[in-house]
Amino acid sequence: MGIIAVKGTNDIYNEQAEGINYIEELFSAVCNLYGYRRMDTPILEYTEVFDRSSGDSSDVVRKEMYTFLDKGNRSVTMRPEFTAGIARCINEHKLYATEELPIKAFYYGPAFRYERPQLGRYRQFLQAGVECVGVDSARFDAETICLAVSFLQMLGFEQVKIKINSLGDEASRKAYREALTSYFSAHIDSMCEDCHERIKLNPLRILDCKVPHDHELAEGAPKMKDYLTPESEKRFYQTLSILADNGVDYEVDDSLVRGLDYYSEVVFEVSVLSSAGQDYGAVMGGGHYDGLLSALGGPQMAGVGFAFGLERLYLLMKDKGLLGEPEGLDIYLMPVGEGVLDEAFALAQIVRSLGFSCFLPDKSGKLGSQFKKAERRKAKFALILGEEELSRGVAQLKNMKTQVQKEINLEDIEDELDEAFGESQHHHHEE
Ligand code: AMP
Repeated sequence: MGIIAVKGTNDIYNEQAEGINYIEELFSAVCNLYGYRRMDTPILEYTEVFDRSSGDSSDVVRKEMYTFLDKGNRSVTMRPEFTAGIARCINEHKLYATEELPIKAFYYGPAFRYERPQLGRYRQFLQAGVECVGVDSARFDAETICLAVSFLQMLGFEQVKIKINSLGDEASRKAYREALTSYFSAHIDSMCEDCHERIKLNPLRILDCKVPHDHELAEGAPKMKDYLTPESEKRFYQTLSILADNGVDYEVDDSLVRGLDYYSEVVFEVSVLSSAGQDYGAVMGGGHYDGLLSALGGPQMAGVGFAFGLERLYLLMKDKGLLGEPEGLDIYLMPVGEGVLDEAFALAQIVRSLGFSCFLPDKSGKLGSQFKKAERRKAKFALILGEEELSRGVAQLKNMKTQVQKEINLEDIEDELDEAFGESQHHHHEE
């Protein structure tokens, strides 16, 4: 075999590339509606950005990072997620001092985790998400969830399900950690190796353990809601009532915890249902955090955000038939005869300058085979330029769908194309 792609990475092209691009564009548009702006931080960060932001107990930090020494002997890491880099950026440029708070940033791009590749799990994958940083408010927590729901609804998912929980403030979590530690201590001998570590570092992570026996034990563990301080409880109900007032359905799920140490107060997961009501599992996860900016040397400021995987969302959309037909070409230009190739090239340039996409083959070919190619490219019109036509300053414009063909004067090409494509339909005429 020749040279192949690195294990766990994917080439993305054609329909998948277009589908993912569509999702990214819609996501940008919805984020803009909520007053978010794009933030594009480097893929590569100094390793301490992720070490310091994730705490000691995160599995991502412990096992899955692409970390190496660069030629200058500095330890660098390819981002396993975006939040830490965004916090680093906000700190470094002191955006918290110069921008109106909260800072609302959205992002999308590749992230890297050295995981065992399997269906839907890759070593390089695409992530997108938002971070709303600098105001500690149940309202912004709720707004972030509203954004996630709006986005999925605009993509065409009709049934969006929110699972929500509160991890409480520092005092709540301390009391809860103690309760979990004493509960799991009684069973730890029968639990997996990782859980032996987790109980020391952060017993909340045991609740995420995938080992069936440990998972069963976790189901009988004390519940977070019984350890919330009155302030955290009040705040949680404030978020829930804002959601309810604004028509967002949710379900409080006691077992929902997020592994990374910096999460506090509200955490949530969003899933979508199939038309038959089957739950496809979480497509998005997020929550409120504090201590993240300060862990990276910045001010003590809270934030809230969520992230999702683009490949997974793409697959779900494909599965549910939400992707629609790819755009296709406006015009497939067909030169007939070697003598028209230069003029066809110039004509293609004119067509493109008028805002219509146009493909021109490199040589003249039989019309039959050119029409087959035009169909494959989903061209809306064929524009046929032959030697005889050229001598009269005309070309044939054929609607690929209706098969209606019209001779057009090349001098009037702008008006002819506008008319053919219909004033209202074409992007050329949109703002
Ligand atoms: P996380 O940062 O772990 O909460 O992940 C957020 C989202 O990113 C998940 O819901 C997945 O859709 C996606 N994701 C995480 N890890 C991978 C991976 N290795 N391959 C593909 N998608 C991933």
